[in-house]
Amino acid sequence: LAARKVRSAKSPGSEENEAYRIGSREVTFAGTYVSSEELATGQVPSETWDPKARYRWSAGVAVSKFLYGLREGRIVGVHCQTCDRTVTPPRAFCEVCLGPISKYVDLPKTGTINTFTVCYIDVAARRVETPTIPVVVDIDGTKPAGGFLHLLGEVTVKKERRSVKVLDSRGREVDVGRRVEGVWKPEAEREALITDIKYFRPA
Ligand SMILES: [Zn+2]
Repeated sequence: LAARKVRSAKSPGSEENEAYRIGSREVTFAGTYVSSEELATGQVPSETWDPKARYRWSAGVAVSKFLYGLREGRIVGVHCQTCDRTVTPPRAFCEVCLGPISKYVDLPKTGTINTFTVCYIDVAARRVETPTIPVVVDIDGTKPAGGFLHLLGEVTVKKERRSVKVLDSRGREVDVGRRVEGVWKPEAEREALITDIKYFRPA
């Protein structure tokens, strides 16, 4: 819900705090108003620091098999025998029948472009000259067809007046439905991460 400031505090430290409008209500928050200036000039004790926060978390049984598989140059999926569904990345239970899944399968490194986009901003929303091409690949052997998000590589982007075209190494336009194959990093550089696949390239 958007909050819009409708009234500023009369003066720092005054009883009257800033008021905000949230929907049809005007609200003030409890406490003593502190201005940016009071903070900047040290009138109010404050502390700043750069937290050196490092995180680790378990990928879980199913996704761990997927990640270790990537390190070995494989795409691992799971098969639900109840529903006759094959999906990747693997999951420990079937989201359709909610039964446990324990049958892991190796899938081909090939697939079909489900959708893609030409992206001129990076993850921090900064404009970039060389675009990236996020692509959703339906991995061969999945049923119903499905897969995951990755990047399209070994392509060039051709900007025209009203459109942007993605061309393969032979100059042919790449579109939804195009066959692609995964290109892995050299074995020594793999880390059991999704980025062990460098990108998918048009086949
Ligand atoms: Zn199922």
